[in-house]
Amino acid sequence: MAKNEQTAENAQLKDIIAHAKEYGFVYPSSEIYDGLQAVYDFGPYGVELKNNLKRLWWETMTRLNDNIVGLDSAIFMHPTTWKASGHVDSFNDPMIDNKDSKKRYRADVLIEDKAAQYEKSGDQERAQNLLNAMARLLEAEDLTGVRELIINEGITCPLSGTTNWTEVRQFNLMFSTQVGSVAEDASTIYLRPETAQGIFVNFLNVQKTARMKVPFGIAQIGKAFRNEIVARQFIFRMREFEQMEMQFFVRPGSELDWYKQWAATRMQWHKALGIPEEKLRRHDHEKLAHYANAAMDIEFEFPFGFKEVEGIHSRTDFDLKSHQEYSKKKQQYFDPEINQNYIPYVIETSIGADRLFLMTMCNAYVHENVDGKERTYLKFHPAIAPVKAAILPLTKKDGLPEKGQEIINLLKYDFNIVYEDAASIGKRYTRQDLIGTPFCIAVDHQTLEDNTVTIRHRDTTEQERVAITDLHQRLSEACSFRRIFEKC
Ligand code: ATP
Repeated sequence: MAKNEQTAENAQLKDIIAHAKEYGFVYPSSEIYDGLQAVYDFGPYGVELKNNLKRLWWETMTRLNDNIVGLDSAIFMHPTTWKASGHVDSFNDPMIDNKDSKKRYRADVLIEDKAAQYEKSGDQERAQNLLNAMARLLEAEDLTGVRELIINEGITCPLSGTTNWTEVRQFNLMFSTQVGSVAEDASTIYLRPETAQGIFVNFLNVQKTARMKVPFGIAQIGKAFRNEIVARQFIFRMREFEQMEMQFFVRPGSELDWYKQWAATRMQWHKALGIPEEKLRRHDHEKLAHYANAAMDIEFEFPFGFKEVEGIHSRTDFDLKSHQEYSKKKQQYFDPEINQNYIPYVIETSIGADRLFLMTMCNAYVHENVDGKERTYLKFHPAIAPVKAAILPLTKKDGLPEKGQEIINLLKYDFNIVYEDAASIGKRYTRQDLIGTPFCIAVDHQTLEDNTVTIRHRDTTEQERVAITDLHQRLSEACSFRRIFEKC
């Protein structure tokens, strides 16, 4: 990537970060103490947007599929869970330090960034060779080889500009803590690094109590924690984040068909949400995790390049089998159709709510110059916009605020509405553009005469006169998830 290109991309991310902070979407955590790296808080508009995205995902899974049910399992789990899942032994990232800048990096990310540079400059083959070489070395756990690759590729530390690298070491990403008052080994537990294991250990509970028949899925939204080595790119990589995972249990042997189906379904979901096709791509994994027999990512073109938003993995029967072994409790399903007992295979779809949030912000952020006039707005799909409509009386007198209040009472039970009567109408429109409100409803003197209002549309700034009695219907149509579901 050319330096000036990189700078422009970083500038775009910087603008989005500044916008998110200034307009109440995302703040650094405990900012008055200078923040905590890779931890963020969501402000008033951020929490609305995130809740809408989570609800959209939840309803897509549990309402559009009559064979998927929900679960909310605890963050803390019996420590053996993480032994069985393989996280204690192999949930590691390879890390490397630059001796001059004292900065720590993920060795695989340094190499991937180099490959992305080759790809950007048109040298696909070199990029692919580099990724293959890395995959081979990681597979063989040859960390010395990984270091040599970094040095041979001339990868320098972006801060010091040198290749003065330490050895590559493995680093376990799980946070641990103690339960009980006595600090002994037995009381060490982990903050879950993924929500999936809560689903696996409840597989039989859910199957039996909800009377599910294979194929069926269990969906869950919840916090996950990873002690990420490199925390960067804003909320893209955090130490505390939220995952939305769905494990789909299938008959052994049918998993690759289901994998294909879920990969297509999930890609279509992102498009239905309004993400342009050219900003999405599929990336098939070269190096498969210990539990998978096929895996891919859905990537979005962030200002810092194409990066993973969602993972789709064919996890085989690894997890259930391993829990059966460690717990000594059968994790089998009796399939009445074929009269057989088996441990189901699993297809997983896993997306970070925060990464989805960042993708949505990046996709919605528009800074344009029309006829010499600059305008910034967030073009969220109305169904996920934090605020659906703003009620704006033209003046604070003549009964207009009271009329505005009447309209709020008509709409507030079904939509998130705000009211503003300070400042000029133009300034109030601008403010709503900046938080992505799709409709501004202006109440003026004509409203008192004929019960009509002006709706101003965020993306086009066009205005139209509408009867108050039509408002609820208009908002319902525009803001319903149905409009997204129909494209799924
Ligand atoms: P990466 O390669 O970016 O570290 P991963 O392959 O480890 O991600 P998974 O374990 O497959 O990610 O997790 C599934 C999803 O959870 C990811 O697609 C991403 O959306 C989200 N996710 C994972 N780690 C983080 C994180 N540190 N911060 C925010 N979201 C995350």
